[in-house]
Amino acid sequence: MVNTEIHKEIPAFAGIRNYINGVYIHPIQDNWIDNYNPSNGVVYGKIPNSSKEDVENAYIAAKSAFPSWSQTTLEERSRILIKISELLEANLQRFAEAESKDNGKPVSLAKKVDIPRAASNFRFFGNAITQFASESHESVGQDAINFTLRQPIGVVACISPWNLPLYLFTWKIAPAIAAGNCVIAKPSEITPMTAYLLGDICTKAGLPNGVLNIVHGLGTTTGQAIIEHRDIKAISFTGGTATGAHIAKVAAPLFKKLSLELGGKNPNIIFADCDYEDMLNTTIRSSFANQGQICLCGSRIFVEASIYAKFKNDFVTRVKALKVGHPSKASTNIGALVSNSHLEKVMNYIEIAKAENATILCGGKKVVVKDYENGYYIEPTVIEVTSNNCRVNQEEIFGPVVTIMPFESEDGVLEMANSVNYGLSATLWTNDLKRTMRMSNQLQTGIVWVNTWMMRDLRTPFGGVKASGVGREGGFEALRFFTEAKNVCIKY
Ligand code: NAD
Repeated sequence: MVNTEIHKEIPAFAGIRNYINGVYIHPIQDNWIDNYNPSNGVVYGKIPNSSKEDVENAYIAAKSAFPSWSQTTLEERSRILIKISELLEANLQRFAEAESKDNGKPVSLAKKVDIPRAASNFRFFGNAITQFASESHESVGQDAINFTLRQPIGVVACISPWNLPLYLFTWKIAPAIAAGNCVIAKPSEITPMTAYLLGDICTKAGLPNGVLNIVHGLGTTTGQAIIEHRDIKAISFTGGTATGAHIAKVAAPLFKKLSLELGGKNPNIIFADCDYEDMLNTTIRSSFANQGQICLCGSRIFVEASIYAKFKNDFVTRVKALKVGHPSKASTNIGALVSNSHLEKVMNYIEIAKAENATILCGGKKVVVKDYENGYYIEPTVIEVTSNNCRVNQEEIFGPVVTIMPFESEDGVLEMANSVNYGLSATLWTNDLKRTMRMSNQLQTGIVWVNTWMMRDLRTPFGGVKASGVGREGGFEALRFFTEAKNVCIKY
């Protein structure tokens, strides 16, 4: 039987609950995992490690809500999504602090980027659904017309990672429910708190019970139960490439629709004719924002040989000035990494770089922050490499670590940029329009930024090629993913 205890406030012992059918409930097997605060290494809460039975409960709730939600008018769906957006904005401080405590990111960043973007996701898809049109085709000379019905899929799953927790969680949930689906969503077990808080916001905004169900737990238990569920028809997943490959393997024989947003190893290509100061400021951000834990970070920096020495000197000077500190301090540029195991993974790559005879230009060590000695801090690190083939240039590190190396020619840098398994994004710094077009055409990535980085217009397609993923999110692409196109042909 489903336990329907409602848990409105976060108590000092913040045991979070699943949000199923509009209420917060305990996991059926009373199985819990620890939630760590990365800024001090202290366990501050418990997270349900939900079982197959919990996922089944969520599925039953979602399935029951579907007939009514899928028939709810677009205006009403839109109104509710926009209300969720407004409530997130009204709770900005609370959500930003919760995100920072879970993830280690500076509160200032969560306040400026993560939570406002989560609110924008709901507002954007609340509006977009009212503009989502389907096609019709007149079969000329045959007295027939075809039109396309865009129908919601049914019960769909959204699975998200820890680096931009609420931002990416809502980037999936908002289009899924806007399109009329009911959702089973699983945030990362490492950063569940803002997803937990979102349930209450959705209830307050009037989202009918069962439209959104949030189950918490490990990927290998809760996540696995979701992807194996025969009646969950589509999975929108953001996370690591290995997990994406595993999900694809499980989902294929069950014929699930998949959107996979995976890892990246993105080139940041700097030509001598760029606007230098603008490039330098943005390159600091594209290297180290969110402690370098953004799939879009430009972790391989290639610099035209004629400005390499100057760039190396200026960049390293600027990186050394970045302040590593507690995420709540306004002076902090670099907060804590998300977990101890992730910190060790990143540190291991610094050892790999040394073993490959690369040069650590700055950083490379753990940082002990006064009063938070057990937190997971690391210096922003710049590694000079002599080849694109080394492991630190080929494997995703996902931390505050970038490599730099010079290049001689446009063809040469293009070859290096594309010589990697991943293909998520690339950044180009140049004022040469012809070169911009040549490079944009030939870079093997889903996104190219020119003279900017991570500038996002939510109408644009988002996603990667090669090992960075399959499918596109954003704008109508997301609404297309979360609907089935049905052609109706009428002979008149
Ligand atoms: P991860 O793959 O370990 O986990 C992501 C999510 O998948 C988590 O919720 C996890 O619990 C779940 N999961 C794990 N195993 C599962 C299984 N067997 N079945 C179902 N779900 C399972 O990734 P992470 O470490 O949380 O996130 C970091 C990765 O995400 C990086 O590789 C990063 O590049 C990538 N990422 C990609 C994008 C993008 O848009 N392309 C955005 C952000 C992060």
